[in-house]
Order: sequence, then C-alpha cells, then structure tokens
Amino acid sequence: MAGPYNTLSRPYYAAHLKRTFQTTNGILVFIDPGHGGQDPGALGRYSRESDNVLKVAKRVKELLIHYGFTVMMAREADKWVTLESRSDLANRYRSVIFLSLHNNSAKASTATGFETFIYSGPVGSETVRLQNALHSAIAPQLPIVDRGKKRANFSVLRRTVAPACLIEYAFINNASDEKLLMNEVELLAQTTVNGVLQFFGVAKKVEASTSKSKEVDEMAKQLTPTQQKDAKKLFAHAYRQGVFSADHSKTVDKMTVGQVAMLTMQYVARSTTK
Ligand SMILES: [Zn+2]
Repeated sequence: MAGPYNTLSRPYYAAHLKRTFQTTNGILVFIDPGHGGQDPGALGRYSRESDNVLKVAKRVKELLIHYGFTVMMAREADKWVTLESRSDLANRYRSVIFLSLHNNSAKASTATGFETFIYSGPVGSETVRLQNALHSAIAPQLPIVDRGKKRANFSVLRRTVAPACLIEYAFINNASDEKLLMNEVELLAQTTVNGVLQFFGVAKKVEASTSKSKEVDEMAKQLTPTQQKDAKKLFAHAYRQGVFSADHSKTVDKMTVGQVAMLTMQYVARSTTK
C-alpha cells in the first residue's frame, strides 16, 4: 500500500499512462542500480553486485536517452543511497516508471536463472504490464533459466508510486551466471531497454535504420531493362528539346536508379517552368 510519504496516488499514474505516447520526450524513467558504497550487495568470485548493476544501469541510461527519454538514476557512482530516498526521489520527480537492477544470490552455488519482481501488495494493471514487458523482452534472450515473474514486499517496490519492477538478472554466486553478469552488460542493457520500449509502444531504432538503409540501397541499384529504355527515351527527348545541354541517354547504362531519378526531376522542373 502507498504510505503517507507518497504525494501522488496510483490512479494518477493509471490516467497518465492511458494516453498513447506519440513521443518519448519528457517521459521520465527512473533507474535504481541496487546497493552501492558501504553495501556492495551480493558478492561473486570476481565481481560485486553493486558494480555489475551500475554498469548495466549506465548503459540503459545511454540507450534510453538515445530514444529521447529523460532518465534519472538513484546513483551514478559507487555510493550508498538509502532505500527510502531511492523511492522518494522517483516519487518527487514523478517518474513514469521505476526500474531496480540487481544480481541474485543464493546459498547453493548451483542456483541459476533470471527473474523479475513487482510489489506483493495491491498494484495497478500498469505495474503488471511493466513486468510482463520487461520479462518477455529479457528472459528469452538470456542463456539461462527463466525462473518466472514473481512478487515480493521489497521496500523500493512498495514505496514507489510509479509502476516499479525489480530485475534479478542472474546469480552472482554461480560461476557461469557471474560471467553473464560481468561480460554481457550490453545484452542485459539492450534487452532491458527493449522491454521499456515495448511498454511504451515505441519502435526500436534498429528497425527504423534498417528500413532507411533499404531506401538507400534502392537508390544505388542498377535500372531494369524497361527503366533503362524509358530513361533513354526521356533523356534523348530532353536533349532534342534543349532542356538538357548534354545527351544523357548515352550514359543511362552506367546510371543508378538515384542518378536517373535526379535527372528526371531536373527535367520535370525545367520543362514545366519554361
Ligand atoms: Zn540486490
């Protein structure tokens, strides 16, 4: 349940999130890299949880900013921040979602896998949707077991007003899980960001740039025989008319679609404004 420290109600966020986001500008995503400073979190053979999650958090921040989000971090360095102030900060600045990044740990060194948590008390449908989006974006991409979507009474999940999800990427006390946590920062960050994009209904930029380069490829192509015939006819006609001072019909064979398109545009512009 939301306590007295919350200045905003959960329905505020429900209403806020109902609108469709046309742009990511101004959407505040709060990232909470777990632990820090005097609290290193769980310890692995070669790494500390607080360091591992900070690396992922910084990369998540970069990627989200690239997508136009506004990002706030509970900590940017190896320093301790109380659990209360992590939520308080997110609440004060009205973050739209809250992501808490962690490494798991267990007594058994064989414990392995990925899991996500949302608050075990009453939560809004957007919180469930956030967990679903993150979990389904990350879990299938990791080479470890999917331990499932869980709920717990964690302070940051309880105290944060915005939809909040805590991610336990893998077990730091398991040798192969720890390798993933240390060496796959980019994978962890990218898949986390994909989950955020999915939650907000934002298309991945990778896809956008692929379609752009397809357009460029299209313009660099050679012409089909029919296109060549048409272009030769048009350019010969343009030369006879005096619209072009050079006879481009003789060099059509060597032209790309883009070059022919440019000449055609010039022809249309010059012949219609004469
Ligand atoms: Zn932790």
